[in-house]
Amino acid sequence: MNDYDVIIIGAGIIGLSSAYYLKRNNRDLNILVIDKNPTYAQGNTSRAAAGFRDLFSSDPNFKLAHSSIEFYKHVQNELKYNLDMKFVGYLYLLEEKTLKMYERIFENLSKKTRVEIIDSDRIREIHPDLNFNPDEISSGIIGIDKIEHGFLGYNCGIFEPDLLSSFYYEKSKELGVKFMFNTDVESLILEPVNRIDYPGEPFVWQEKRVGSIKIKNGNIRADYFVIATDVWSSLLLYPIGIDSYAVPKKRQIFQITGESVKKILFSSGGISEDKIIPFTVLPKGVYMRPSIKENSLRVSVSDDIGRNIMLEDDPQPEMNFYAYNIRPVLLAYYPVLENSKIFSSWAGQYSISTRDDQPYIFKTMNLIYAGVTSGSGVMKGDAIGRMVESLFSGRENAKLFDGSSIGSDTFGFINRNVPYEEFVL
Ligand SMILES: Cc1cc2nc3c(=O)[nH]c(=O)nc-3n(C[C@H](O)[C@H](O)[C@H](O)COP(=O)(O)OP(=O)(O)OC[C@H]3O[C@@H](n4cnc5c(N)ncnc54)[C@H](O)[C@@H]3O)c2cc1C
Repeated sequence: MNDYDVIIIGAGIIGLSSAYYLKRNNRDLNILVIDKNPTYAQGNTSRAAAGFRDLFSSDPNFKLAHSSIEFYKHVQNELKYNLDMKFVGYLYLLEEKTLKMYERIFENLSKKTRVEIIDSDRIREIHPDLNFNPDEISSGIIGIDKIEHGFLGYNCGIFEPDLLSSFYYEKSKELGVKFMFNTDVESLILEPVNRIDYPGEPFVWQEKRVGSIKIKNGNIRADYFVIATDVWSSLLLYPIGIDSYAVPKKRQIFQITGESVKKILFSSGGISEDKIIPFTVLPKGVYMRPSIKENSLRVSVSDDIGRNIMLEDDPQPEMNFYAYNIRPVLLAYYPVLENSKIFSSWAGQYSISTRDDQPYIFKTMNLIYAGVTSGSGVMKGDAIGRMVESLFSGRENAKLFDGSSIGSDTFGFINRNVPYEEFVL
């Protein structure tokens, strides 16, 4: 007799959304979600910059984000569950050469969602204090061309991952999903499907399954296991010979505030009802996410070459990273931010797929793995939870909230059918 039908390890957005869809579609299942933290969404989910966008070059990736955004909109508008979701838009500020490079992708996106290429007059309406010709200030040291165009996505914006996680947590609990916190899963224990009760099982020639998980106080058995442990997945999967495909990289957020920040947070050119500026991405990848409650901007940049690949349990922000890598670019474009001050900062880790920057979602034996969300897992969380449920139920396709469907094994490693994602922040 097993203790549970399904054990989900990890109570971040992926584990929570998986729990909700597994239980919602299979009411009889006895499901347990386990996390090492004292409560849900304390891993990378709570460290996100908290932006969402459906601007992805890969079609499967677009589906994950677009359908999830539609669902989150439904949660906020129809189910009246506040996610603090605001459609402020995403604005990529571009040099001429970058626009040319991505023209084909922009055209493809314009067939699927609302996007617009805007000129410098329109950019000026949104960002009146923007310096279009930053090399005048940086004296050519940073080597950035002037901004000539903008690529504006409308079905994009900002939300609160904590509120979204609470939605899935509360709904799952209402349906009867059980949660166990402060519990570190030490290992997955393999066993043969058909026991012969001989020491050393399972042998190479035996069909295998995960029989139980090991925690401090003993083992817990289940029929199925879902691994939603993000950057920590290798710790559980490698010992039983399964690749997690997850490359951990530190990512940092610096919240800046001050009179100049307050001044630029709202602008008559903003596309949202309350005229908040869009989530804005500068050339060189430095981005600014408006945060109204705190009168602040969350700024960050993803460093690739030069940033070591290393799993860290509690990564810390580096002030020098802000001072020497982010601030010079930010000030070159936004000289008015000269006197802004950091009032908080944090760091987390992206679980990256170096192959194509897209998730891995697959089933092997009685184990489902959903991870490698490559820096955009919150905005895709709903679709990924539905795909986990679809794999569990053995369906070929997962039906997504916007009516689209996607092959359940699209993000697997055998029939993986995804092109390289060009839009990663
Ligand atoms: C700085 C930063 C900015 C980001 N910005 C955005 C953004 O703007 N928009 C967006 O959509 N995404 C963003 N992301 C990415 C997003 O945060 C992740 O894709 C997403 O949170 C992944 O969700 P998850 O559930 O897989 O992982 P997590 O939230 O990390 O959850 C995994 C859970 O597993 C638990 N766990 C791990 N191992 C064990 C074990 N052995 N036993 C028990 N529990 C275990 C952990 O405690 C954790 O709670 C950002 C990430 C970072 C770091």
